[in-house]
Amino acid sequence: MNILVTGGMGFIGSHTVVELLENNDEVIIIDNLINSKIDVLDKIEKITGKKPAFYQINLCDKDLVEKVFSNHQIDVVIHFAGLKAVGESVEKPLLYYQNNLISTLNLLEVMKNHNCKKLVFSSSATVYGSPKFLPIKEDFPLSTTNPYGSTKLFIEHMLKDLYTSDPEWSIAILRYFNPIGAHPSYLIGENPNGIPNNLMPYIVKVAIKQLDHLNIFGNDYQTKDGTGVRDYIHVVDLAKGHLKAVQKVMTTNKIDCYNLGTGNGYSVLEMVETFEQVNNIEVPYQIVARRSGDIAQCYADPTYAKQELGFECEKTLEDMVKDSYQYIINNK
Ligand code: NAD
Ligand code: UDP
Repeated sequence: MNILVTGGMGFIGSHTVVELLENNDEVIIIDNLINSKIDVLDKIEKITGKKPAFYQINLCDKDLVEKVFSNHQIDVVIHFAGLKAVGESVEKPLLYYQNNLISTLNLLEVMKNHNCKKLVFSSSATVYGSPKFLPIKEDFPLSTTNPYGSTKLFIEHMLKDLYTSDPEWSIAILRYFNPIGAHPSYLIGENPNGIPNNLMPYIVKVAIKQLDHLNIFGNDYQTKDGTGVRDYIHVVDLAKGHLKAVQKVMTTNKIDCYNLGTGNGYSVLEMVETFEQVNNIEVPYQIVARRSGDIAQCYADPTYAKQELGFECEKTLEDMVKDSYQYIINNK
């Protein structure tokens, strides 16, 4: 199959491209490298022995997207591209609406023009807002607390309206929980510039002494030890989930949403302890005030994804913390 992967140079996208190439799919990547680096392409080739077609273009430029579809007969699109920093989205909401919504609208219009109506979309557990019950099921009410989350929710609405207007579309909306870890080659992974926003990249930078200590945002939540609980999923498991979703959209004509998580919730303190034990390194921390907008607990009910996609996670929490650390050690 010819699979267009937007945002294929990014963290989750690059791992998915590796899995697709290893599955013998033809991959075409569109990425403007706003949050990724060109050397990822060589690393993908080192891992798989194959080099995907790559277009360094902004999806907000519709004419350029159109050209890619003219150059390739695309069977299905996996749409990762987007800006994803919650804090930045609060400061620069227009940038987020502009980038995430215009790029998706352009993509959908061009897909429609070329009669390519199969799509896998990267959504997020953030669309569940602050869930009333746990674990989170796909039919829970949706809401958001920041512009980034709103872009995901708006796109979900757009996709549902599109499907209603034309049921020839087939769309899988994947709601990711908290992806961490890295490819076991340690050639690709997550290494954000500057001070990380997310827990695991921050822990790793403390471990390699680029940062002094971890700030734990609150220990007075209604959780097992007072710190926030999340569902961490290994990025390689997550990447494999996309192959299952591609199979689904190729064999059905429907729109559906799937949680991609493990179903296990771990607290911040449990993450720190596991990281220290597995990697045999200390992570100094301080408890500080809650981070605004944070929720106490968020973890998936993975039953529907298992039933509908045959998706199940294989990697353990130990694999996740080991691979996150090893990737940085190998790419400092
Ligand atoms: P990432 O930033 O590493 O990758 C996104 C890629 O998209 C980057 O390479 C970036 O350069 C590219 N991009 C952004 N805007 C573009 C545009 N207008 N045109 C072309 N390329 C563009 O992010 P990621 O962690 O790999 O996330 C992938 C997707 O999954 C995103 O849509 C994100 O919102 C979603 N998601 C991520 C997480 C997470 O914690 N990492 C959780 C839930 C959902
Ligand atoms: N967290 C923390 N210190 C940090 C970053 C995150 O204590 O420097 C906590 C955060 O409050 C949450 C958990 O770690 O309980 C996961 O946060 P992350 O930003 O990685 O994911 P999200 O909150 O988006 O699920």
